[in-house]
Amino acid sequence: MHPPDDDHRLGHEADFFEDHGQTDAAALETEADVTCPHCGETMTITLDPGGGRAQEYVEDCQVCCRPWRVRLWYDATGAVDVQLLPVE
Ligand SMILES: [Zn+2]
Repeated sequence: MHPPDDDHRLGHEADFFEDHGQTDAAALETEADVTCPHCGETMTITLDPGGGRAQEYVEDCQVCCRPWRVRLWYDATGAVDVQLLPVE
C-alpha cells in the first residue's frame, strides 16, 4: 500500500501555439533585390523564410565585402520588404 502521488505530472505544460491560419508559409519570398548602401551595386540576396516574418541580421556585400544590417519583413501576402543599413 502506497500513498497516491500526483507529483509526477510535471513537465506537461502544453504549448498550444498552433497556427492553423498560417497556410502561406510556402509563398514567402526567398530572394530580394537590394542595393548596397556602400558601393551602390544592385544584387539579389537569398532570404531564409524559416527565420521568421521579421528578421534582422548582418551580411556582407557580395561586391565590396562591407557589412550591412539587413532588416526584412514579410507581409500577409508573403511579399518581403527589405531595408539595408550600412554598418561601419
Ligand atoms: Zn557593396
